[in-house]
Amino acid sequence: VDVAFHPLVVRVRPETDDSATITFDVPEHLRDLFRHEPGQHVVLRADIDGEDVRRSYSICSAPGAPLRVGVKRIPGGRFSTWATTELRDGDRLDVLPPIGEFVHRTDPTRAASYVLVAAGSGITPILAMATTILATEPESTCTLVYGNRRVASIMFLEELEALKNRWPDRFRLLHVLSREPHDIPLFTGRIDLDKVRMLAGGLIDVDRVDSWYLCGPLGMVEDVQAALADLGVPAARVHAELFYDERVESVPEVDESSAVSVPFTVTIDGRSSTLHVDPDGPSLLDYARTVRSEVPFACKGGMCATCKAKVLCGEVTMAKNYALTPDEVADGFVLTCQAHPVAGSDPVTVSFDVHGGIGR
Ligand SMILES: Cc1cc2nc3c(=O)[nH]c(=O)nc-3n(C[C@H](O)[C@H](O)[C@H](O)COP(=O)(O)OP(=O)(O)OC[C@H]3O[C@@H](n4cnc5c(N)ncnc54)[C@H](O)[C@@H]3O)c2cc1C
Repeated sequence: VDVAFHPLVVRVRPETDDSATITFDVPEHLRDLFRHEPGQHVVLRADIDGEDVRRSYSICSAPGAPLRVGVKRIPGGRFSTWATTELRDGDRLDVLPPIGEFVHRTDPTRAASYVLVAAGSGITPILAMATTILATEPESTCTLVYGNRRVASIMFLEELEALKNRWPDRFRLLHVLSREPHDIPLFTGRIDLDKVRMLAGGLIDVDRVDSWYLCGPLGMVEDVQAALADLGVPAARVHAELFYDERVESVPEVDESSAVSVPFTVTIDGRSSTLHVDPDGPSLLDYARTVRSEVPFACKGGMCATCKAKVLCGEVTMAKNYALTPDEVADGFVLTCQAHPVAGSDPVTVSFDVHGGIGR
């Protein structure tokens, strides 16, 4: 994994009232490095009011087309608000080369049936996949089930309509709206267990689907996965990408007297909280969130570095790291979403207040 950020010139276009697309000008000498497969994402980094903010965004363009992402503004969201209101044409944004295993590997000889399920901004990697499949697998078909609150919030509506007009026999687009009633109940509400069962009983012949690609918040992805498992769909056919976890998990604190427990102190905004944690239990981020709700995080997958903090005492290991540079790791920074104390470590202290160590 290349961990160096590259400052790329951007072009910003409004997409809906609360979203924008950002297209990157990738110079010739970086083209190979920034080549992507449909479904992959990039980590973007910006300095926002003196804070280093990094977030993941899936690439919505098909391979070969200019590198482009779509950002939906989250109320109060740090990066998405800045990127959709402050970022201007010609600015430079720091970008990590594409990463991610949620990919569709296209095969022009295949005659497959794909079902793509997206909610809200989860459309971005799905759009790249649909565009690629339709353009490169002439015998394959796609059904897209796309959930949004209302018509005005649907990202890429025009591009999807254009795909439908171009390949009316191979692309089916089913909109599901949660806040705009529709005569047909199937197209109203959220994409959940019942919705998948209704689709499977009618518009989608589940046994004939070769691959499912799901993208959105945890609740939607888990519901669709559970419904498909109930319907006998082998898990190997179901691929998913999570954009965020809308549920705050409750993580039990470990009993102080337990033989394995390690004292863990977390400092943020100058204030410290201490609890006891199990080295084989949840991540330090999950533990920290039980006592300090303001701890920052986004992807929880070791990719975005939102949850970066510095280990001041104790021994900590990371399961995965796609976001920190070797210099940052050497400086004692960890991705807390991937961090666990080493068994038998001295008490661990982690601070979210120490910045720096960002070498590139
Ligand atoms: C692999 C991956 C790919 C992603 N691709 C995209 C993409 O293509 N387009 C896109 O807009 N976002 C995408 N995201 C989400 C994105 O990385 C940010 O989390 C999102 O833009 C919010 O960041 P923020 O700084 O504005 O909000 P923050 O200030 O970090 O968080 C504000 C709150 O919003 C919640 N939240 C985070 N994401 C969402 C969301 N999508 N909808 C509702 N609430 C949310 C958080 O849990 C938090 O409580 C992706 C995430 C991952 C892990």
